[in-house]
Amino acid sequence: MNTPLSRRTFLHLVGAFGGSTAVYRAAVGMGLLPPGTHTARPDIAPLRTGDRKSVLILGAGISGLAAAYELSRRGYDVQVIEASHRAGGRNLTLRGGDLVDEAEYPQTCEFDRDPDLYFNAGPARIPGHHASLLQYCKELGISLAPFINENRNAWVQDDAMFGGRPVRNREYIADSRGFVAELLAKTVRPDSFGANFDQRDYQQLLEYLRQFGELDSRFKYVSSSRAGYATHDYTSPPAFKQPLNASELLRSGFVYLMSFSELDDQSAMMMEPVGGMDRIITAFMAKVGRLVKLSSPVESIRLGAAGVDVRYRHAGDVVHAHADFCLTCIPMHLLGRIEHNFPKEYAAALTAVPHGKLFKIGLQMKQRFWENEGIYGGISWTLQDIMQLWYPAHGIHRQKGVMLGAYTFSDEVAERFARLPPAQRAALAIQQGEKIHPGYGRYVESSISIAWHRMNHLFGCPVQWSEPLQSQCFKTLQAPAGNHYLIGDQMSYHPGWQEGALHSAFHAIADIDERVRAGAL
Ligand SMILES: Cc1cc2nc3c(=O)[nH]c(=O)nc-3n(C[C@H](O)[C@H](O)[C@H](O)COP(=O)(O)OP(=O)(O)OC[C@H]3O[C@@H](n4cnc5c(N)ncnc54)[C@H](O)[C@@H]3O)c2cc1C
Repeated sequence: MNTPLSRRTFLHLVGAFGGSTAVYRAAVGMGLLPPGTHTARPDIAPLRTGDRKSVLILGAGISGLAAAYELSRRGYDVQVIEASHRAGGRNLTLRGGDLVDEAEYPQTCEFDRDPDLYFNAGPARIPGHHASLLQYCKELGISLAPFINENRNAWVQDDAMFGGRPVRNREYIADSRGFVAELLAKTVRPDSFGANFDQRDYQQLLEYLRQFGELDSRFKYVSSSRAGYATHDYTSPPAFKQPLNASELLRSGFVYLMSFSELDDQSAMMMEPVGGMDRIITAFMAKVGRLVKLSSPVESIRLGAAGVDVRYRHAGDVVHAHADFCLTCIPMHLLGRIEHNFPKEYAAALTAVPHGKLFKIGLQMKQRFWENEGIYGGISWTLQDIMQLWYPAHGIHRQKGVMLGAYTFSDEVAERFARLPPAQRAALAIQQGEKIHPGYGRYVESSISIAWHRMNHLFGCPVQWSEPLQSQCFKTLQAPAGNHYLIGDQMSYHPGWQEGALHSAFHAIADIDERVRAGAL
């Protein structure tokens, strides 16, 4: 007997495949949550002549920079205070000479100085529906190119199947689908779905399964051009590949791969800025850089009747600043540890939400060997710790390229890598990558790794909201504490995406605008 899925189990499964956004959307769809206040970019009023309003923005993450951009051009007096030597926070593109400011293992990137040799150590892709971010790209003149998230020519490798031998993604997907479709076609009956399912529906379903799995006239999966050809010289009849062994396929723990590139935020079309994701930061800085004070860690935030007082350090000096309003994208777990006089409930919420751990490695390769394997962009997957290899879709057919040699979302694995000195991280990544590209270590010229949970001024990402924590703390933190607003992707239902960070800023500045218009300040 089928056990009906509980709503909790359903949401858990949705979360495992689709992340927090999918859970949120499913929960809204099931009526468990009210539709979110997905704030559009606010049309805030310019200040009236003679009106003066000041805003301190703490943290030059993308949310802080966007807020500075929006408010300063409406006449607000804005200053951005940033702890790091650079703006951008998690939006970080590494090129030759750049510093990775990890607490225990600071590194300098040793890539060749070449416009195509860069590594997006933080964000790398922009979904086509992240409209606000894309709109800024347009407005700020940032060139975009398609981002290749899925490549059927890339590899899938799992020690549990085929003795660890990698198989092409296209074979893995096509054969799995063929196998499942054949099984279903064999077992489904006209009465499988009850009275509302008639003979015509049954025939339609069989036809659907035939198309879905590319089954033959007897509903058998024999072979498929979708899986690729064993031989094909374009002038003689092609030979299809034999299907992979179904039991071997089932042994693989890769089920999520079947739907990864169908996820809301991972499906085509995706975009990337030409030259690196930090082109967005550079463009914002061209607009508001004069307002940004770098290398200035904030040490104290005090709410008062007439605004917000902030104390920070700069070049060895203690500096005091005051403003009518304050927006902060400092990660909330760090903010909670700064001296402050936030209300008790607000302060408790700041440190209640855990943060995840992410780890990436970039490898400069002296030869773009993957192109000889027919791979132009996209991702190879493995169940080893490195989890993914990414191939650059820019600089095609040039001699060198920077590929991603590891990107793990698992806290435990990220921690395992983080504990190692950079040279050992790279050695481990290369050793595991060799299972996908035997001998590829010989192409590696230099490597750069980043453990985001060990990065100074961040120490963790992304924020890991759970349903109970969200209902307990989100509203408290989203509402202003006096004139202080918490922003950043942490204050969105879309953590881990720049779009979420932007919308948190929109939410805060729309509220400020409303209060200013109402003459509340
Ligand atoms: C590995 C990785 C992959 C990602 N992939 C994608 C992707 O493909 N697409 C996408 O859109 N997003 C992606 N993201 C998420 C994206 O990077 C974030 O959503 C976004 O950059 C967060 O911006 P933010 O404004 O919240 O601030 P953050 O970037 O978190 O910046 C916070 C700022 O506060 C500063 N700060 C900290 N303490 C202090 C202090 N005491 N005083 C002053 N300043 C302080 C920090 O230095 C930092 O600059 C990824 C992130 C990572 C790490």
